[in-house]
Amino acid sequence: MSIQPHAESTYTPSHACALSDVPQWDLEADVVVVGYGAAGAAAAIGAASAGASVTLFEVASGRGGTSAMAGGDIYLGGNGGTSAQRENGFEDDTEDFYRYMMMAGGPDADAARVRFYAENALDHHRWLQEQGIPYRTTHLPGKVMAPGTGDCLIWSGNEAAWPFRERAKPCPRGHLPDAAGALGGGGRMIVDRLGDRAEALGTDVHFDARVLALVADEERRIHGVVVRSEGQTRFARARRGVILCSGGFVLNEDMLRLHAPQSLRLADDALSAGHDDGSGILMGQSVGGAAIHMDELFVTLAFYPPSSNVKGILVNERGQRFVNEDAYPGRIAAQCTRQIGNRIFLLADHATFEQPSELSRMEVAAVGGTWAEVEREAGFVEGTLVHTVEVFNRHAARGEDPLFHKAEEWLAVLDEPPFAAVAMHPGEAFYPFFTLGGLRTRPTGEVLDLEGEPIAGLYAAGRACSGLPRSAEFYSSGMSLGDCTLFGRLAGHTAAGAAANGENAR
Ligand SMILES: Cc1cc2nc3c(=O)[nH]c(=O)nc-3n(C[C@H](O)[C@H](O)[C@H](O)COP(=O)(O)OP(=O)(O)OC[C@H]3O[C@@H](n4cnc5c(N)ncnc54)[C@H](O)[C@@H]3O)c2cc1C
Repeated sequence: MSIQPHAESTYTPSHACALSDVPQWDLEADVVVVGYGAAGAAAAIGAASAGASVTLFEVASGRGGTSAMAGGDIYLGGNGGTSAQRENGFEDDTEDFYRYMMMAGGPDADAARVRFYAENALDHHRWLQEQGIPYRTTHLPGKVMAPGTGDCLIWSGNEAAWPFRERAKPCPRGHLPDAAGALGGGGRMIVDRLGDRAEALGTDVHFDARVLALVADEERRIHGVVVRSEGQTRFARARRGVILCSGGFVLNEDMLRLHAPQSLRLADDALSAGHDDGSGILMGQSVGGAAIHMDELFVTLAFYPPSSNVKGILVNERGQRFVNEDAYPGRIAAQCTRQIGNRIFLLADHATFEQPSELSRMEVAAVGGTWAEVEREAGFVEGTLVHTVEVFNRHAARGEDPLFHKAEEWLAVLDEPPFAAVAMHPGEAFYPFFTLGGLRTRPTGEVLDLEGEPIAGLYAAGRACSGLPRSAEFYSSGMSLGDCTLFGRLAGHTAAGAAANGENAR
């Protein structure tokens, strides 16, 4: 691979700037961090507390990124349990936590990363508190999403749903900060508290500063970045390393088309604070970094509340069930988007039906006094829907679901008219999503090439890399911010300890 000399106007994430092209270094630091969301703030703290000088560039006019839009849920447990888990009677064994996280990472979960996370999650929780993030120890049972009450512990994944509950003892692990009364939600609080700490440790922050490209030498060692700020193109030297914390690529239509074309029909529901254009991933690729799991999205739907919807059943356009409806909505949404055909319905009877929230954009498509009427009105092939409901009801009456193993507490016989089919078609109902694919890294943040070799001086954390969360169907809420903050810290620490690239620099 060669780094080509080129004119200033051609600096783009996909073309690294050759070291020999750098006219002068306008700024210098041991570590340069790109992006000021949760991962960037944690990376800056990790590097600065290990003694490195840190410069951080953020394209927006303030800190936050997509992290500040988040509810702030962080997935924590193991080692006997956090104080919130223990005080509410949940003992969380590290091996259960590890097994669950391996499932939650999907078929290519990163065992080394999951092991490190499982063994260090309790310490990480303490560290978050030491940075000034407050947590209560209260538990909200049942199916809740970002309640905004300041309560802490929630069931935020598939822990109690089949098949997960058979492989790891179920335990709630979503931990929300006490952000009730604070401006913005829990995610805003997390970034602000981490940002305050990073700046108190001396991080030199530049807003309205877009990193355009990496600076690399002929051996592809990274020496710094090209950055555009105040109408000028500047060259910032990173003596020890550059950490890419620039988020995912949900706003980059070309990258979506290339890697995740199935997302294009959901494109209006992309979740982003405005700069998830994949620039960090492209920068990593420009020097040979491998990008993995680029087709995987986190996608969800506002299927509940009301939680009585969980007692309904979901069918595709052939009138067939395809998932246990008590699973995490991310798993359900992923399965909905993967069905053949584009029509998905929630079937409910008078006893279970409650109007879904307006946000969900779920619409009642057919109502009838019998399931046969609903079947006709919604346009299913004769007998298909009626058969599905009959099979489901027969087993539900015995407290069983031999097809998908929905837990007994969510099983209800759907036999009280009127009956309804509620449309929740991908592309019409609200299916918010963001990307999970990104640069391949070691848990230490070192960016790896296609052969698995590290690229000297280059690190990545958060959704610029493929970390703990890397599978739509298995995701649990809290995995992304947990990954951003713990592995952001570690990337900062590793970069700070790396050898200075002085002998190569001019
Ligand atoms: C509504 C919502 C709720 C969520 N709730 C949760 C939750 O409760 N728990 C959870 O774990 N996850 C949650 N998530 C997901 C989680 O918030 C994100 O995956 C995570 O915050 C990503 O963090 P990050 O630091 O990688 O990226 P970001 O927070 O997006 O930070 C990246 C930063 O880099 C900047 N940047 C990008 N390119 C450049 C460039 N070239 N030069 C300079 N700066 C650049 C961006 O402006 C941005 O500020 C939620 C997401 C959304 C949208």
